[in-house]
Amino acid sequence: MNTYLFAWKPENWEWIDLQSDILKVKETGSATRLWSAYTKSISPGDRAFLIRLGKKQRGIFASGFVKSSPMPLPHWSGKDKLVPRAFVEFETLFDPDKMILPIELLKIGELGNQNWSTQRSGIKIRPELVDDLEALWFDFLKENAQNDFLNDSTINDTTFYEGSKTQITTTRYERNPYARKKCIEHYGLNCSVCEFNFEKTYGKVGADFIHVHHLNQISDVGQSYIIDPIKDLCTVCPNCHAMIHKRKIPYSIEEMKNLLLIKAE
Ligand SMILES: [Zn+2]
Ligand SMILES: [Zn+2]
Repeated sequence: MNTYLFAWKPENWEWIDLQSDILKVKETGSATRLWSAYTKSISPGDRAFLIRLGKKQRGIFASGFVKSSPMPLPHWSGKDKLVPRAFVEFETLFDPDKMILPIELLKIGELGNQNWSTQRSGIKIRPELVDDLEALWFDFLKENAQNDFLNDSTINDTTFYEGSKTQITTTRYERNPYARKKCIEHYGLNCSVCEFNFEKTYGKVGADFIHVHHLNQISDVGQSYIIDPIKDLCTVCPNCHAMIHKRKIPYSIEEMKNLLLIKAE
């Protein structure tokens, strides 16, 4: 997975339905838009950040994942020429006039090596800087979690995971690369329920593969909520994950372990 920076310059293109997109993210967990994407290697599953450039406060105000490879499509300017554009699904989208990670903070330390004021949308973020960026963005989300804008932070988003035919309801935190990383660093790559390890069974193909499940999500809804990647997340294999979500109120890890024990008797 690579990480790309998409750019928005309000002076060039007015995002008329920004507010309704923000609402859509609140209500459904995500909003998908076509975005200019000038790097050929951009592929589905890649991480995306969106920066506002131009005259107003510059900075990052949205993140998500790329949903399609770039394809030649008419330009936003309405001119005849075709430009490469890709679908980007934003799982976090703020009103940049109210909440934005200022570009000044992105220019401190190592992160300053990235060109943030890019003229082209869809440039690759230097791989060695991605961890720092995700950590900074995660801190920004956490600091603002008390804020009304983030009261929907545990909103559920129904996703089809690869390798699973069962619909699994996920929260944005289960897909947040920083939270995932911290969770896996702590719990390792074994399933917390059945201890399945993908690398042990499938070799290299299975290396680093595991789902992350968000515990106690129902009780958190409606409260301002700060996630702790170790207390609130755990690692599960897709089978156990699917079973956890068989019930509207997801089964706990303990309940799941008990189910396995009963079955074994
Ligand atoms: Zn399992
Ligand atoms: Zn889950």
